[in-house]
Amino acid sequence: MSLLTLSFDNGPDPHVTPRVLDILASHRITAQFFVLGKHLVTDEGKRLVARARDEGHVVGNHSFTHAIPLGEDTRPDAVEAEIAATDALVAPLVPTPKWFRPFGGGGKLGPHLLSPRAVEHLRQHQYTCVLWNSVPGDWLDPKGWPEKALADCAAQAHTLMVLHDIPDACLEGLDGFLHRAKALGMRFTTRSPPECLPIVDGHIARDITGLVAGT
Ligand SMILES: [Zn+2]
Repeated sequence: MSLLTLSFDNGPDPHVTPRVLDILASHRITAQFFVLGKHLVTDEGKRLVARARDEGHVVGNHSFTHAIPLGEDTRPDAVEAEIAATDALVAPLVPTPKWFRPFGGGGKLGPHLLSPRAVEHLRQHQYTCVLWNSVPGDWLDPKGWPEKALADCAAQAHTLMVLHDIPDACLEGLDGFLHRAKALGMRFTTRSPPECLPIVDGHIARDITGLVAGT
């Protein structure tokens, strides 16, 4: 039996996220949503986070601007501007636990993802840091990504897949992909494979060398 955890990054988007939520509901699947602070300054953005929460999804912090990866961001207040400013918008809607997903490099893991200050902030505030082990490239190939996604699912026991609830990404192929994944016997969960969680509730859970600038 293979497990699949779906995660949707870079939203919420007023046109795409409601349709993603509808499709997930029609399949009775819950997932993870890693949202951007810049999309939560509107009432619509906040309503979409509340809807995802109420429908049983996990909601986490994916930075405010999604502009410069934290490991490459030289601003002295980068952690406050990206992680804390987003948390100020997420926490009133989804209090705990705190989830954070770094970004950068088109999904490649590397020292661009985190800075030492970011790691310290995540530890101090009891975050769980959520990485991934599948990036089928929905934003690069909105029609073709399901083939890559199914190949990833077949290759590992527990796939944590990065998709995007933004325009011109996963939406068009999502329903068909879910039917095919179910037909192959995939089981869905919102839990993450342990190897994708380098920090758990503020504790370093595995070697983070290679994920932090300067390491
Ligand atoms: Zn992202």
